[in-house]
Amino acid sequence: MEIIPNVHLIPNTVANPYLLIDPDGLTLIDAGLPGSHRKILRYMSSLGYAPRDLKRILITHADFDHVGGLAALKAATGARVYASPVEAQAMAEGHASHPLKPRSVITKLLFDLMAGLFKPAPIHADELLSDGQVLPVLGGLQVVETPGHTPGHISLFAPSAGILFCGDSIVSEENGLRGSSGANNWDQVKSDESVRKQAALGARILCSGHGPVVMDATGKFPQV
Ligand SMILES: [Zn+2]
Repeated sequence: MEIIPNVHLIPNTVANPYLLIDPDGLTLIDAGLPGSHRKILRYMSSLGYAPRDLKRILITHADFDHVGGLAALKAATGARVYASPVEAQAMAEGHASHPLKPRSVITKLLFDLMAGLFKPAPIHADELLSDGQVLPVLGGLQVVETPGHTPGHISLFAPSAGILFCGDSIVSEENGLRGSSGANNWDQVKSDESVRKQAALGARILCSGHGPVVMDATGKFPQV
């Protein structure tokens, strides 16, 4: 689904991967659940691109629904993988970067079951990202450290298009936006700080890891 020219959401995956198109090739933000590589490659093919046209995969954080398709996608395309040092370490070890905090035995059982079912293959990042770094994507894509949901979570902001890719730091729901919270959140204070930091960027379009893209995001950021 085209969001604006050269920016696409690849639909029907649990966590949204975004495909960015530049003259020198394609960049993907996040890689979806295990098995999502097929959907991503099919989507690229529908736009007329071959697997080798994918040059970079940027990972917002190492949760299984964002890195599940990563190993297969890297093998199929040869794309370079980028992540923050903390998330890269977790990816290399094949687990999430933070322990979940289940509030009940049932939730704990569910989390354990999910972790076993969706254990991503370990993968090494090729490049480590840091706050303020600008990547040569969409005329300059800024790395914004947004810890809270996970310790090394990053978001990516393209000022040229006013578009912010916020991973799971802000969740888009049918009735509006909310900051990361609950049992799946690593640090609530940092999470709230990251929401405020992103609200100040002046993004017009918000692309979350979950839920619908918000096309008129100005003034809609969560008040935390
Ligand atoms: Zn997550």
